[in-house]
Amino acid sequence: MRRLRNVKIVATLGPSSSDYNSIKALFEAGADVFRLNMSHGSHDEHRMRHAIIRQLEAEFGRPIAILADLQGPKLRVGTFAAHAADLEEGDAFRFDLSEEEGTNHRVRLPHPEIFAALEPGSELLVNDGKIRLKVEDCGADYANCVVTVGGTISDRKGVNVPDVVLPLAALSEKDRKDLEFACEMGVDWLALSFVQRAEDVEEAKTLAKGRAAVLSKIEKPAAVRAFDEILAVSDGIMVARGDLGVELPVQAVPPIQKRLIRKCRSMAKPVIVATQMLESMIESPMPTRAEVSDVATAIYEGADAVMLSAESAAGNYPVEAVETMNNVAISVEKDPTYREVIEASRSAARQTVADGIVAAAREIAETTDIAAICAYTQSGKTVALIARERPRTPIIALSPIETTLRRLTLTWGVHAVRSGELERFKQAVVNAARAARDFGFADETQQIVVTAGVPFNVQGTTNILRVAPCDERLIYRTDPE
Ligand code: PGA
Ligand code: MN
Repeated sequence: MRRLRNVKIVATLGPSSSDYNSIKALFEAGADVFRLNMSHGSHDEHRMRHAIIRQLEAEFGRPIAILADLQGPKLRVGTFAAHAADLEEGDAFRFDLSEEEGTNHRVRLPHPEIFAALEPGSELLVNDGKIRLKVEDCGADYANCVVTVGGTISDRKGVNVPDVVLPLAALSEKDRKDLEFACEMGVDWLALSFVQRAEDVEEAKTLAKGRAAVLSKIEKPAAVRAFDEILAVSDGIMVARGDLGVELPVQAVPPIQKRLIRKCRSMAKPVIVATQMLESMIESPMPTRAEVSDVATAIYEGADAVMLSAESAAGNYPVEAVETMNNVAISVEKDPTYREVIEASRSAARQTVADGIVAAAREIAETTDIAAICAYTQSGKTVALIARERPRTPIIALSPIETTLRRLTLTWGVHAVRSGELERFKQAVVNAARAARDFGFADETQQIVVTAGVPFNVQGTTNILRVAPCDERLIYRTDPE
């Protein structure tokens, strides 16, 4: 099974996508990476979804990445007796520390530090800023507010307080527990919410101990300011437009999205564009034209992945939402303007042998009729460099290391295939050709480019580039040992 597009699709799992059949349907429709949102659901629920994904992975013989998204120091309300409450403009509404379930008049906000920092006149924004409340009076454990923009507030919705600086640690007690749970269970990516500085990322990496790659969600003005330092220590980035568009004016988001995508590509690190991409598809089987255009824009800008949140987790049309992204991606990537834009923004900065080899691999592949670039990798670094080139030719990543392959499923254009441990180069070429044929990238008459490092199974040694036939008899006849 292969995808017919290069950009990847991340689908968040939730109540609408929790059983075997619905997760399988999302995968078949095009989801490459599944996101477990630690802000919602119990560990048992996440464990069940994790097991289903690993089962699908085995059944389809194709690595699938699991991304555990840590809530971070995000303020969230508690739960409601009726799971939700309708607030209208002018209503009085109270936030407090009481453990009782919420009503139309009050709800728990379990963050004493917020009450300490609030003042009469402060604004509280709920549910990605859709609902607004103004503080009338407040104390150490409560805030009485008046609703200025109404809407439905439901269980554990997020709260932003943009005009107040909150002294919060990067990882809450809950985040530490969730991180350990996720790493124990075996996830491929951790996403860190509300990163403010590079040290926040380093702290998470220390706790993850290499068990998962770490992706920073950019959703605070402070993270935008410290972006270069954050990118340098992160394995990937998410443009988390939901909270970013609440913490900053919404019109500040598109230029930031463009800039962040470019910087990530230049550093060969995957970047996800997230939130509200197909928001109306929570309720409707058809997206708006504006949403289709938004997904297309992220792809034109060179994002590695586009993401579905509530659309796949809690919406009525999760499969249709994935299909929509898939169709938009195929359409954009066929557009000659897409190639022009992507090629014009290719980075020229090359320093290492690997940089030179991957650039040459793309040149050869595009000059002649090459069916696929097949790259052996230990850490995934060489494949990330090939993806940065955004070649027209498909990329096949080969590795004996399952974690490397799973992480790479987030990266633009990468088709990841498990290879055995290698001893001889000839064997590497034979395996690459077989993968290219088996997954429908090439037939026996075609040629592939193979990159690898000798000695095998050592990180950071890519030093060979070979143009090889896909016909195994020819490989045995012509290739050196
Ligand atoms: P969230 O992150 O869905 O966890 O809030 C994404 C965003 O803020 O855009
Ligand atoms: Mn967020």
